[in-house]
Amino acid sequence: MNLNYPIVKIKDKSSKAFRLSKNPWVYSGAIHELDSSLEDSQLVYLEDSKGRIGIAYLDKNGRIPLRFLLFTEADEKFDTNSIISRLNDAWNLRSSFLDFSFTNSFRFINSEGDYLPGLTVDIYHELAIFSISSNYVKNWIRIVQEFLATKGIQYFAIKNENSGFSFLTEKHISEIRFKENGLEFQFSIQDSQKTGFYLDQRDNRKKIETYASERSILNTFSFTGAFGIYGKRGKAKHIHNIDSSNKAIEASKIIQEINFPNDNTFQHSVADVFSFLREMEVSKYDLIVLDPPAFAKSKKSLPQAARAYKDLNRIAFQKIAKNSIIFTFSCSGFMDKNLFRQIIFAASQEAGRKVQILEELGHSFDHPVDIFHPEGDYLKGMVLKIE
Ligand code: SAH
Repeated sequence: MNLNYPIVKIKDKSSKAFRLSKNPWVYSGAIHELDSSLEDSQLVYLEDSKGRIGIAYLDKNGRIPLRFLLFTEADEKFDTNSIISRLNDAWNLRSSFLDFSFTNSFRFINSEGDYLPGLTVDIYHELAIFSISSNYVKNWIRIVQEFLATKGIQYFAIKNENSGFSFLTEKHISEIRFKENGLEFQFSIQDSQKTGFYLDQRDNRKKIETYASERSILNTFSFTGAFGIYGKRGKAKHIHNIDSSNKAIEASKIIQEINFPNDNTFQHSVADVFSFLREMEVSKYDLIVLDPPAFAKSKKSLPQAARAYKDLNRIAFQKIAKNSIIFTFSCSGFMDKNLFRQIIFAASQEAGRKVQILEELGHSFDHPVDIFHPEGDYLKGMVLKIE
């Protein structure tokens, strides 16, 4: 069979890693020869001096110019059926572990983690939101849409590069309501950040129920207050959501009313978390959630980001009551688990508090990580007990 995919040569010293560990990302440094006249956004064979390694797609101007779709030495092809087979696998994984009548919001495709690099698809009840990090992946959108239509999805939107969403068909909606572990959430499609909701924290939000009883919760970087909603179900006696975004706080008031109408145990404030924590009186709260945005946006900014994480945690440790719980997170992909632990270590030392790690946390199962692609493992967290 002659498939005629063009060939891109990989350096022999780099190809060993691809043959052994099968990380799908090929940086420009690993490319031996790339014909500059090669058309962008197409499938290519990757080869070294020993022969074929696999099939990848080309994204000439991307940060990652080639991403493997298939590791194979044979004359295989990667076509619509290959994509549909991966979509089926991804759907079966979610549907076997989620009860959709209880949780109908989840990540359907997690890019490299579901072997469809560059594509993320989040489902919120009848809405699918695509987000794409490579031009080539645009070729898959129609296939995914048709697949999801058979699963009852009615609305399709794509996240724009800068901000906001565009609908892919004539069918539009302005707001979407959905369920997570039996609780109700919603967002307005144009106002929301990222993909509308932070689905990766689902299991960790659920976890807070176990620790919340009779506690006063300070939910920092609260976005639409989801940790607080679970805290209330876990019988917390007071919940204070803090976010710098006015829109997020307005949305969190609405979501609170939907789940717990006329409930005066909730408080919502628009504020900068760092200033709020510095000014806050000591011992006011005995459960604090620290879920900041990614402080490290690049490897270069890691030292500065590490200081910000340390400051944030140190101040919380200094201010929290005795016998308290902290849920602390970092979603910076550039910071690994060990570094995060060192930061928490330093923060505890500087605050002069005894700290026990009760649990280590990560993302929910619908954000799978390909073991050969550790870059996909970005969310880390801990449940801490402060003496
Ligand atoms: N915990 C949330 C997600 C947090 S996302 C959830 O489970 O849904 C991070 C949030 O931090 C965003 O809503 C952003 O508006 C807010 N934010 C960023 N910098 C901030 C700051 N300095 N002070 C307060 N909020 C901030």
